[in-house]
Amino acid sequence: MKSWPTPFVPAVPGHGDPLRLYDTASGAVRPVDAGEVARMYVCGITPYDATHLGHAATYVTFDLVGRALRDAGHVVEYVQNVTDIDDPLLERAARDGRDWRELATAEIDLFRDDMTALAVIPPDEYRGVVESMDEIAAVVRRLLGSGVAYRLPVPDGEGTGSDVYLDLGMTPSFGEVSGWSADQMDAVFAERGGDPDREGKRGRFDPLLWRAVRAGEPSWADDELGPGRPGWHVECTAIALEHLAHPFDVQGGGTDLIFPHHEMSAVQSVAATGDPTFARLYVHQAMVGYDGHKMSKSKGNLVLVSALRADGVDPMTIRLVLLAHHYRSDWDYTGDLLDAAQTRLDRWREALSVNGGLDALPTIAAVRAAVADDLDVPRALAAVDAWCERTLAGEGDDPGAPGLLARTLDALLGIRL
Ligand code: ZN
Repeated sequence: MKSWPTPFVPAVPGHGDPLRLYDTASGAVRPVDAGEVARMYVCGITPYDATHLGHAATYVTFDLVGRALRDAGHVVEYVQNVTDIDDPLLERAARDGRDWRELATAEIDLFRDDMTALAVIPPDEYRGVVESMDEIAAVVRRLLGSGVAYRLPVPDGEGTGSDVYLDLGMTPSFGEVSGWSADQMDAVFAERGGDPDREGKRGRFDPLLWRAVRAGEPSWADDELGPGRPGWHVECTAIALEHLAHPFDVQGGGTDLIFPHHEMSAVQSVAATGDPTFARLYVHQAMVGYDGHKMSKSKGNLVLVSALRADGVDPMTIRLVLLAHHYRSDWDYTGDLLDAAQTRLDRWREALSVNGGLDALPTIAAVRAAVADDLDVPRALAAVDAWCERTLAGEGDDPGAPGLLARTLDALLGIRL
C-alpha cells in the first residue's frame, strides 16, 4: 500500500546517544541494542474514522524513536499495518450506508495527509490486511497444522464452515508481554474485540485466527480454511514476520494494545515459528484524554488532527503539543496547550532567525541525551527554550549556531521552523 512522502531529514554533526526505552514486558528501561539495522513494527489504524490526537501521539512517538535510531547511526527498517478489514470498519460502513472499501480508502487518505503534515517519516512497508491475505492465511494454516489451533463450527443460523482459534492452553509464553492477571485480562478483553463467552472455546481468551464467512460479509477464499477473513491480532503477527527479520527490535503502539493485541500477536508468532522472541522491546504510548475521558471513537470526544488543520492550526504547533508530554504519561488535551505550543514555536522562530547566537553544541548534546533517555522530550524542549532565551537576551554571537540548532530540531524532533 502506498504510504506518504518522506520528509527531508537534515544531517547533524556527530552521533546521537544509544537509545534506551521502557519495555512493558520486562517493566524496565532498557537499551534498544539494535544491530546496524534497527527494526520496528508499529500497529496502524483501523480506517473507519479520522486521526485524532491520541493516534497522532503514537505515530509521532515512534517517529521520534526512528529519528533517534537514525541519529545514533542505525539504518531503520520500519513496518506499519492498516487494519483495512475488521468488524469496526464493517459496522461503521453499515451504520453510515457506505461501502466499507470506500470508507477505508477515504480514511487512509486522510491519515496520510495528517502524517505528512505532522512530518512523520513513513514506514518502509505500509501493509494493508487485504493485500496481505495470503501470508496471514499461511500463518493460520501453520498454527492449525502444528496442533495449537482448533476449529469451532460457526453457530447455527450464522453460516457454515468453522472459525479457527488459537489454544492458549498450549502456548506457555502467553502472558509474557503484559504480565497481567486473568482478572486484569477479563476486564478489557471483550471491549477490545475479544469474545470470552463464545460457546465451545477451550479458553476464554483464545484469540480468533480466522472467521468463516457470514451472510453479507466480505470473505477471501482459502482451500484449507474455507472462505473467511483473519482475526485482528494474527494480521500483525503475519505482516511482521513477512516484512521484518525476527526477533525485531521494537514493537510499538498505544497502551490500549498491550492486551490483548500485542500479547496475542507475540504468542501467535512464538507458536508459529518456535522462536521464543517476537520483539525485543514492547513500547507503549500513553493515552490522550479530552473532557475527562480517554479520547476514543466510542466516547465521541475526539480532537481530530484534520479538524485542527482545517481551522488553520500550524501542524508544527500540533506536533509541539504532543512533544510537550512524555510518551509514558497520560494527559488531557485543552485549547491552552495549543496556545502554549504556538507561543513556544513563535519564540523558537524568533530566536533561530537571529544572525548569531549562543554556541549550539552543548544544547544539541542536551537534546540528544534527553531523547536517548527513554524519549525525555520535554527535557529536550526545555534545553531549546533555554538556548532561545539566552540568545534573545544577546548572549553569544556564533553565526552558525541558529542554523545548526534549527537543523537539529528538524532531524531529531521533526520540528521545521
Ligand atoms: Zn498490531
